[in-house]
This record gives sequence, structure tokens and C-alpha cells, in this order.
Amino acid sequence: MPHTTPSLPIYLDYAATTPVDDRVAAVMQRYLTVDQLYANPASRSHMLGWQAEQVVEQARRQVADGINADPREIVWTSGATEADNLALTGFMRANRERGMHLVTSIIEHKAVVDTARALETEGFEVTWLTPGHDGCITPGQLREAMRDDTSLVSLMAVNNELGSVNDIAALADVAHEFGAAFHTDAAQAIGRIPLDVAAQHIDLMSLSGHKAYGPKGVGALYVKRHPDIRVEALIHGGGHEHGMRSGTLPTHQIAGMGEAFALLDQQGEADQAHIKALAERFLAELAQLGDVHRNAPGKHSVPNIINVAFGGVDGESLLMALRDIAVSTGSACNSASVDPSYVLLGVGVPRRLALSSLRFSFGRFTTDADIDYALRVLHHAVTGLRA
Ligand SMILES: *Cc1c(COP(=O)(O)O)cnc(C)c1O
Repeated sequence: MPHTTPSLPIYLDYAATTPVDDRVAAVMQRYLTVDQLYANPASRSHMLGWQAEQVVEQARRQVADGINADPREIVWTSGATEADNLALTGFMRANRERGMHLVTSIIEHKAVVDTARALETEGFEVTWLTPGHDGCITPGQLREAMRDDTSLVSLMAVNNELGSVNDIAALADVAHEFGAAFHTDAAQAIGRIPLDVAAQHIDLMSLSGHKAYGPKGVGALYVKRHPDIRVEALIHGGGHEHGMRSGTLPTHQIAGMGEAFALLDQQGEADQAHIKALAERFLAELAQLGDVHRNAPGKHSVPNIINVAFGGVDGESLLMALRDIAVSTGSACNSASVDPSYVLLGVGVPRRLALSSLRFSFGRFTTDADIDYALRVLHHAVTGLRA
């Protein structure tokens, strides 16, 4: 029976970014050109400015609804990277008198890791937690790291390389027991696991547009209002966003992120069910290759991210053989060397296996034919390289 051939290359890198949903792109196109609503949403002196402001405020409600927040608690940023910077640096600087100690983990996204490192050079102290092999931080482990001068805990909801899911509600409760605030990077979590800042007692949450079928270059930081979480601005200017983040708001980007989040509300569960079925089949068939190890295969993980080590295969050679398939490797190429991913090493994956690991991530538009093709190419490549 002939196999259906999907269009190449096949995209299995949804954790790096997602395509913008057509319905989102259609909304974004309304706010750009001369016949459209391109006015500055901060213009108070004319109708066009007020109308643009209404578009921004509707998107703010859509994003707030996605995490059960009040729209006034949403601060627009250029992405989750900026939201993480604002959460950590902005909070630590504004709450110096509360304490100079921050707790985070070694497998956070670089936007958190590098920001925490920069804070260390400013005189703040950081405790770096090491997760278990499942990629999760336990509440007990966090409790042991807490101190009287801990003012903030930052732990991600879903890890972008492993798909592991932290129990953010339980972790937030430990932070609060010690009078500290709790930040979570939820860039990979929105639409994949339930997020509810009220039920989960979250004080600060970073979000991104482009991991959820919205555009790149826009994100948000949720900043709790009651009780008031204080954050010092990093970007100064016209005092936009209650002074927390100045700069003219990009109406088209913001409207796109709002629409993407509204679509998740309708479709997120169906997306995940579709992806779960694909992922289960993918994993079952991969296992037949033998000497294939799922990295951080915890009970708590999202189905859309699958990180696997292929024993007996050189990672670089494998990637070469998979030219038609867009995936991420378990390594980072520097000019001098190939370094294994700090996240894989951080959960105890041996260096050799980290270097032969690939991250497959699926999404809304991944098809059965994509999976069939990927499995066929992988089978061919792995058995060939091992021979
Ligand atoms: C992608 C990602 C980010 C960065 O988001 P941008 O919007 O691209 O700046 C931060 N954290 C996690 C977990 C991510 O997956």
C-alpha cells in the first residue's frame, strides 16, 4: 500500500515556535495599513486612538480569561523572555527590603537562568534547585531551600525541553508559607495544562504569543493585584502599562495574541487529545527500535513534547539523516564544541545519551502522515547508523 507523502520538511518543533493560526493572522491584518485601525492605542485626543485602545483592551480580557485573571493584572511585553526579566529583576529590585534571596531551578529556560545569574552580580543570592529524573521540583525540596530572606520563588510550569509539569499550586503554597511570592514561566503551559492564577495562587506568570499559535514578538506578564505585587519597570518611557512597561503597544501583535488565547479556550482540549493520540503511537513505534530512552518520562508531562535518546547513535549523524524533519537536538553548538543540553544534564541524563537525544514536539497541525513519515525516516536512519 503506498504511503501518503506529507509536504516536506515535516515540522516537529512546535516547542520552539508554532505557526500563527489562519484565524489569528486574519485578525492581525486589521490593524496595520492606511485603510485600517493603525492608530496609537495611547492617543487620547481622537476616536481612532480610542478604538485602537478598545482592541488592546479586548485582547487583554482574552489573555486574562485564559488564566482566570483580572485584565488589569496583564502587562504586555515583547515575549516571555521580557516577562521573565521583568518578573525576576523587577520584583527583586522592588522588594529588596523584604529579602535578597531568590529560589529557582537549574532547568529553567535561559530567560530565567540568565536573569537570575545577572541578579547574582547585583548582590542578590540565588539557590539553584536540581529537579529529579522526572524533571520536577518537589514541594519538600523547595521547603528546604526557603529562608527568612527569600522574597521570590521562580519555577516553570512546563519545561520546554522535557515537557515535564511542575505542581505549581503546591510549590506556590510553599513559597507563601515563608512569605515569599511565586513566579512561574508558563510559556509552554498555556493550552496544554489548566492554568488558573486564582486557584493555583500564582503571583507572577510569564506568557508568550508564539508558543500558542499567536505571533512572535508579543507576550505578557501577569502581576497579581490583591494583595498587590510590586514590580519595578525595566523599560522607561511614556509610562504605559501602569508604568511597568513603557513603549507604544503593537495593536496587531496584541490582538493576535488575544485571538490565539481565545481559540485555545475553544480548541485547547481538542488539540491536546489529537496530539496525545499521535504521541502514543509515535512512542510505541519508536520503542520497537530498541535502546531508545525517553528523557524525564515522569507521570507528570505534556504529550506534545517527547525527548528521546537513541542509544548507539551519534546525535549529529542522526540529525544529518533527518534533514527532512525539523526537530531540536539535545545539544547546543558553540563555535568550539558541541555541548549537551544543560536541561538534559540537569535531570541526570548521561552526557553520551544527551548528545544522542532529539526533542520531537507536536501541535495543532501535525498529521498522522507526518508521524508515519517521521517514523519511517527514523527507522531507516537509526538502523543504518547502528549497522
Ligand atoms: C519560548 C520560551 C520562552 C521565551 O519566550 P519568547 O516569547 O520567545 O521570548 C521562555 N520560556 C519558555 C519556557 C519558553 O518555552
